[in-house]
Parts: sequence; structure tokens; C-alpha cells
Amino acid sequence: MRSGTALADYPYQMKHLTETLASITMLCPECLEEAPPLSGSSLILAWYVCPQCDHFWSARIRDGRPVAEIPIDTSRLTSH
Ligand SMILES: [Zn+2]
Repeated sequence: MRSGTALADYPYQMKHLTETLASITMLCPECLEEAPPLSGSSLILAWYVCPQCDHFWSARIRDGRPVAEIPIDTSRLTSH
């Protein structure tokens, strides 16, 4: 953000939320690709779309970390 005039009134809380959300990427339950939360996500519930396979899912945020509504099979993480 070089010219700050357009964002001068951008509320701090929204900026903080955006930065926090940017840090809560999740691995896609289907293909384990890393996916960033969609805009519209909150610090209670975040939405994700996998950039690789378009899988869509939601996750609850607990203590600043996303917890998938659908359990992720982490055994696949070490299988390759
Ligand atoms: Zn995927």
C-alpha cells in the first residue's frame, strides 16, 4: 500500500483481521494443497477454496488456528 489516501479510513480492526486471516491458511482435505481463507471469512468461521482442485470447505477458528469441520486425513501427509 504505497498511496495511503484511499485506505486512510480503513479501520484498524479490519486491517488486523485481514492480516490474521492471511496467516490461517489450511491444507486442502482433498489434495493437501495450501489454501488461503476467502474474503468474508471471520475469526469465528473461515471459508476455503482449494486453488488446485476447487474443493470448498469451512473451518472454525479456535485460538487463532483453523479447525476443519471435516477431519483431514493427515496420514496422507507423510505418504509421499
Ligand atoms: Zn485440493
